[in-house]
Amino acid sequence: MHSPDSIRRFLFEHYPVRGYVVHLDSAWRAACEPTDYRPEVQQLLGEALVSATLLAATLKFEGTLTLQLQGPGPVHLLVAQCTDRHAIRGVARYRGEEIGAGSGGQLRQLAGEGRLSVSIETNAQTARYQGIVPLSGGDLAGCLEAYFASSEQLPTRLWLAAEADRAAGFLLQRVPDHERAGVSDAEVDELWNRVGHLAATLTARELLDLSEARLLRRLFAEDDVRLFSPTPVFFQCRCSRERVTGLLRSLGEPEVQSILDERGSVEVRCEFCNRAYAFDRIDCAGIFRAPESTQASVRLQ
Ligand SMILES: [Zn+2]
Repeated sequence: MHSPDSIRRFLFEHYPVRGYVVHLDSAWRAACEPTDYRPEVQQLLGEALVSATLLAATLKFEGTLTLQLQGPGPVHLLVAQCTDRHAIRGVARYRGEEIGAGSGGQLRQLAGEGRLSVSIETNAQTARYQGIVPLSGGDLAGCLEAYFASSEQLPTRLWLAAEADRAAGFLLQRVPDHERAGVSDAEVDELWNRVGHLAATLTARELLDLSEARLLRRLFAEDDVRLFSPTPVFFQCRCSRERVTGLLRSLGEPEVQSILDERGSVEVRCEFCNRAYAFDRIDCAGIFRAPESTQASVRLQ
């Protein structure tokens, strides 16, 4: 049995090659619980959440990493986030009627000719883009490999799998090799190519089902691989009444007033966790009476 809801690092002894294995179980089920996704969309969201977890493990930052897919296709927006503490959440917005039968969940058919962006919001709430890559065919793993090649300049290979009750991912990365001792570039090239070919034989079923140790033994039986202890990954939403208040404030008083006139109260439901925030007339009046200085822009994502 794999370590549930966890990420585990491994490395090849004496070589500048490392990797990670992610398994999402209850964290994944909690993340997709608020929405009744179509299977193709759910699979893409699962792969994106696994990807965000792998990216968060490989990049050094404090805050929240956001993987965002945007495109003209049926899945027009998909957001997957992972914090430096490995708290995940995600949401996909899509037009189900546009997903053709037998699309097979191909990224290009779901998202169209869109783009994939990776950004990091630090705790000071400033977002900085790490990189953007076009969805130029292939799958999500292929797009992320292109991201690593262009933005991080680290040769990286990824394998992703997701189904209704769990999701998993596997990453191999060749890192700058200043710490290695007594291994030539040619030997590192040879190992990198060999382990890439071996990992390419990994099936989605094996990735989802095998324990981390068995998976590594199955792929790299001849190599000296060190597997580290699991780090927990969990579902956690960052929404709060304060953030929703900021959102209403940025909508402006006339807009909020028109919702009040129409419905008698304002209800905002968080897309990530389905939590509802209700504001009556008195609450809304209070929002717009607040002093100017607190009117900072607040982002929901
Ligand atoms: Zn929420």
